[in-house]
Amino acid sequence: MPLSRNVDRVATRKSTSRHALNYLHYGIREGDLLHISQVPRGLSCECVCPACHKSLVAKKGRQREHHFAYASGNSCQHAIETALHLAAKDVLARRREIVLPAIEIRFPYDKSVNYDFSTKVVTIAPEQHYQLDSVELEHRVSEIIPDVLAKVKNRSLLIEIRVTHKIDERKLKKIQDLNMSCIEIDLSNMPRNFSEEDIEKWIIEAGPHKRWIHNVTIEQRRQRILSQATSRPLFTNRILLTEFVCNCPLEEHAKSYWINEKRYADFMYECVYCKHFLAKDYERGSVICDA
Ligand SMILES: [Zn+2]
Repeated sequence: MPLSRNVDRVATRKSTSRHALNYLHYGIREGDLLHISQVPRGLSCECVCPACHKSLVAKKGRQREHHFAYASGNSCQHAIETALHLAAKDVLARRREIVLPAIEIRFPYDKSVNYDFSTKVVTIAPEQHYQLDSVELEHRVSEIIPDVLAKVKNRSLLIEIRVTHKIDERKLKKIQDLNMSCIEIDLSNMPRNFSEEDIEKWIIEAGPHKRWIHNVTIEQRRQRILSQATSRPLFTNRILLTEFVCNCPLEEHAKSYWINEKRYADFMYECVYCKHFLAKDYERGSVICDA
């Protein structure tokens, strides 16, 4: 078995470059996801399409890359993407390991505004390799069904695999409300003629395609940093139509707005880009600042 599997892998890699087609390399048999290299040729593969569940034929000839085709001769639009999604989850269930992105708190922070720059980054943990103590696929957690629910050092970790659609707002909100750490592995840029090795690499190894959707430690530590910083009231000057921050201790900012013995900084032009600016507190109408 291992030998024939190796031979199959070599055959799979020798794809004919004339055919820029993406072949289906995975079928389902009795609920198991099987690679083309694991099944006998023809209809005796007894596999169905991962997406539409129609019968597949294993094409394992000498000319073309080994692949699955439809017994009916039809094709299926979603087969490869569905297979990718299933294969990704399968890697986690089999290998039970993953490199998680660094845990970093970025400032300025705003729940509603996504700043495209950071003036301060607090690193809590670097990118790191972890063993997963348990892996459950499509296991309901309260009102959501994450792709993967894993346990890492007695903590729950949700893993979302993105093939086409990114996580929707409703699911994101529920994950935040549950306050469970969750990463997204974005496979939308992964070549669709992926091999088994490719998918293992993308799922387990580090890269910019992995990001924290929500992280319990980040939320806790950010909250602590914000609560220990100074809250400086904001007021709007209706004539200048400008928001000013009271009591800015930085002379280089406050010099031009030194009124009645108090320093004022211009929120938009000075605070937002200042390394001491951490967040805007909308409820209290203030700026949270560590200067
Ligand atoms: Zn199908």
